[in-house]
Amino acid sequence: MPDGSLPRTLRDADALLAAGLIGAEQAPAIAAVAERYAISVTPAVAALIGAPDDPIARQYIPDAAELVTAPDEIEDPTADAPFTPVKGVVHRYPDRALLKPLLACPVYCRFCFRREVVGPDGGLLTEAELDAAIAWFARTPQVREAILTGGDPLMLSPRRLGEILARLAAIPHLEVLRIHTRVPVADPGRVTAALVAAMDLEKPIFLCLHANHAREFSPAARAAVGRLTRAGIPVLGQSVLLAGVNDSEEALEGLFRAMLSVRVKPYYLHQLDLAPGTARFRVAPEHGRALLRALRGRVTGLAWPTYVQELPDGGGKMPIGPGIA
Ligand SMILES: *Cc1c(COP(=O)(O)O)cnc(C)c1O
Ligand code: SF4
Repeated sequence: MPDGSLPRTLRDADALLAAGLIGAEQAPAIAAVAERYAISVTPAVAALIGAPDDPIARQYIPDAAELVTAPDEIEDPTADAPFTPVKGVVHRYPDRALLKPLLACPVYCRFCFRREVVGPDGGLLTEAELDAAIAWFARTPQVREAILTGGDPLMLSPRRLGEILARLAAIPHLEVLRIHTRVPVADPGRVTAALVAAMDLEKPIFLCLHANHAREFSPAARAAVGRLTRAGIPVLGQSVLLAGVNDSEEALEGLFRAMLSVRVKPYYLHQLDLAPGTARFRVAPEHGRALLRALRGRVTGLAWPTYVQELPDGGGKMPIGPGIA
């Protein structure tokens, strides 16, 4: 930083321009994108960007193309709405349900399927809404697993997160808790001892870490993941197959090996959802299958995720191969 102050999270076109991450000619179009979709590039992420359109920049730096909706793109690609019994809960599968305590994230990914709703000032459940959501879990005994997502639950204060987890853990039929997060790679400094302590429960808690490129595992990110795994929290890896980010054999292998090197087991590789303005990230499923087939056998089976696609009619996740052929 020119004035010697601490680097700050970049939240608009001017800040990206001042940080040298976009050119002046891009700024007006990116300012227009910002009116519809939130921007956030943490100092940890900004430090990883080596060149415009590299695999890190592509994930986080807005692009004018985001305001263009392709004919096959849909507003609510996962069709969560019909599966929302109370605000903040999504119950699509019999034995597990999502709880979305907030919709803020450390970074705003340009390909996100929730991009119409996530943002820094949206979606924090009120006290009454949170009570109602937790009461729904308490009266729904077929649900054995609560999955905290959002937004990013690790954006909550340790005290707040600890409270929510403790209330869920106190529900006898909830056997497993899970948190989906990007914080350990996007803002590793947030993974403090207090935050880790908030996740120290009697009941099993699994963390699902969203990362799409080996370079996201910076030394600080690796240390943050280490604080979680050393606390006994199993960490799974969740990635999205993205053009220009990880749609090559080398990139996918590098990503999965980077995960394993910090004890993270690749869990899902997602086919990109058809969210508006995300066409530049699209990879054909046939190409995804070919990439995985090429890794099979050559790369340890520990690195092997299930390749899944969200069915657009709310049908949920479907494994899409590669099959036996
Ligand atoms: C992905 C998802 C889950 C979790 O599914 P797993 O296959 O158990 O990881 C749960 N609920 C909803 C609505 C989901 O989209
Ligand atoms: S962190 Fe997750 S929910 Fe937030 S913008 Fe990225 S993909 Fe979407």
